[in-house]
Amino acid sequence: MPALKDLEIGVMFWAGRDPVETLREVKGLGVVCGQLGVPGDLELTPELVEAWRSALEAEGFTVVTVFASFVGEDYADIPTVQRTVGFIPPATRQEREARTLALSNFAASLGVGSLAAHIGFVPHDPADPDFVAVRDMVRRVCDHAAKHGQSFALETGQEPAAVLLDFFQSVDRPNLAINFDPANMILYGSGDPIEALGMLAAHVVSVHAKDGDWPDKTKPGALGVEQPLGRGAVGMERFVAKLREIGYRGPLCIEREIPDHAQRLKDIRMGVELLERLRE
Ligand code: MG
Repeated sequence: MPALKDLEIGVMFWAGRDPVETLREVKGLGVVCGQLGVPGDLELTPELVEAWRSALEAEGFTVVTVFASFVGEDYADIPTVQRTVGFIPPATRQEREARTLALSNFAASLGVGSLAAHIGFVPHDPADPDFVAVRDMVRRVCDHAAKHGQSFALETGQEPAAVLLDFFQSVDRPNLAINFDPANMILYGSGDPIEALGMLAAHVVSVHAKDGDWPDKTKPGALGVEQPLGRGAVGMERFVAKLREIGYRGPLCIEREIPDHAQRLKDIRMGVELLERLRE
């Protein structure tokens, strides 16, 4: 896969039915790298691996991260996220761990050096049995990923930076890392993203360029609203400036999560233009 420039602009995208078609659409946005999200129900067959491997090579496209997602996850509001997302729900822990390890193998087959996931809301109390179970699960995933030379990156947002740092200390694995999403800090009301980025800097291996507004305080449990890049409360200029300040050189992967496909592509194109200006 071709080498990337510092702060190369990329896109967070999802594996479609046809890898070549998927990559051509992403490249049509003006980028040559990105993060590949894998839907929870996509069967990881040897044929799929081969189709992705040859498509990436033929299209000259670099995947920097394979992103896990799981069947049954729902991001409707904060209580629903708590109940359904990541490693936290006890009933699906075993199958989701197996899926995560399989995705690490899938990423390794494509030569991708980082695996990422939303693990869900990490409990704040280290004595909580869910904290212990999830910590041990993350350790096993890290140890498996390490065999492939991969980092395992946690998506930020669902907890304040200080809670995440405590969790990192407790997990105690050198390849545990962070995919920093500044908008999520705002959408979940978890604190100022720029301050959080400074606190988490040592662990950040990849970032989402995403924007959003703070939750409506009159609606308990509601998430904030995602916005096109540059239209929300993150402040893309200060985000890029802070990334430079902490010495981050990896790609800026634009993430836009709306159901309207045409609008999503339009917003990402606008995001690419904005980041190109800010990078100058
Ligand atoms: Mg994100």
